[in-house]
Amino acid sequence: MSRNVLLLPGDGIGPEIIEQAARLLEALNHRRSLGLQLSQARLGGSAYDAEGSPYPDSTAQAARNSDAILLGAVGGPRWADVERQLRPEQGLLNIRADLDLFANLRPALLFPQLANASSLKPELVAGLDILIVRELTGGIYFGEPRGIRTLPNGERQGYNTDVYSESEIRRIARVGFELAQKRGRRLCSVDKANVLDVTLLWREVVTEMAADYPDVELEHLYVDNAAMQLVIKPKQFDVILTGNLFGDILSDEAAMLTGSIGMLPSASMNESRQGLYEPCHGSAPDIAGQGIANPLATILSVAMMLRYSLNEADAADSIERAVSAALDEGLRTPDILTSDTTRVGTAEMADAVIRNLD
Ligand code: NAD
Repeated sequence: MSRNVLLLPGDGIGPEIIEQAARLLEALNHRRSLGLQLSQARLGGSAYDAEGSPYPDSTAQAARNSDAILLGAVGGPRWADVERQLRPEQGLLNIRADLDLFANLRPALLFPQLANASSLKPELVAGLDILIVRELTGGIYFGEPRGIRTLPNGERQGYNTDVYSESEIRRIARVGFELAQKRGRRLCSVDKANVLDVTLLWREVVTEMAADYPDVELEHLYVDNAAMQLVIKPKQFDVILTGNLFGDILSDEAAMLTGSIGMLPSASMNESRQGLYEPCHGSAPDIAGQGIANPLATILSVAMMLRYSLNEADAADSIERAVSAALDEGLRTPDILTSDTTRVGTAEMADAVIRNLD
């Protein structure tokens, strides 16, 4: 059975890292006869330049017909003056909404070889393995009404609406509970129920659902405390469940515990397990075109794609082992370089991973 994988290189370092991830995917596809059909389309600023929209119809059609999508990154200063609805980042919001990719999984996993790259003491982070489950298609990023209005006194006022329905909370909480069952069986739900009504409902619904998952230990934390606990004692967490806004911030914080945003993959899935896989970082315009971007977050996103959307867990495991082996060889892109390791560029790092595939 052939499966369609759509590649969306995007902007900035996107094309550089997707080129390497595609080489790896093709090597695996050939070696393991995975039957994957790769195709490519535009998203973000490059799509706006070529087709007048950050999420053109041609890309939407290809995305809807795919089993899984691998994205580089979108955005950059070049499109700063483009009107909001046509900005590169809008392409990302549009594809997430179009495919109803409501569940965003962001692991913060620290490879032991990189414990020294973290800004925290190695003993606090060595062995760190957190999974953040963030709701991605609701909450304040999408809530209406929103806008900037002029008040009767002439002053301008900006406003957004944070809104979650019970069904939206239930479906993301189910993902959190089920993933916790497959991991350390601990789920920490993060909210601001002492101040925000929308998250009071969140807490009530998650608490009700806990009865269906007696094997999972549920804890609730306010978001300000969760942000502190992540730097004080990060290893206390197994799965963190939260909404769109808090998840955006906490997942970047967790990312930095691992030392480099260049190491972190992510998955965004809908109910039929179709997924968009992408590194957590952005398009890094400051290093684009230099051949020095770390391709490992994208390569690890390929592993997540094989595991969650394509049901190829063995192939996913082999990628993760190959990344670890490449790090064991002492190879590092500049973002994770230390005095006792060897500096390599984007393509050389990918070469090392491909060489170490079993
Ligand atoms: P960024 O993640 O692009 O960069 C932050 C810092 O991390 C930069 O110093 C960059 O050089 C470095 N970095 C990022 N990825 C790296 C990699 N693979 N290897 C080595 N170093 C890496 O975040 P930013 O600078 O805030 O945003 C730049 C652009 O990316 C903006 O237009 C933003 O809107 C967009 N963005 C896109 C996404 C996405 O496509 N999912 C996510 C975040 C930001």
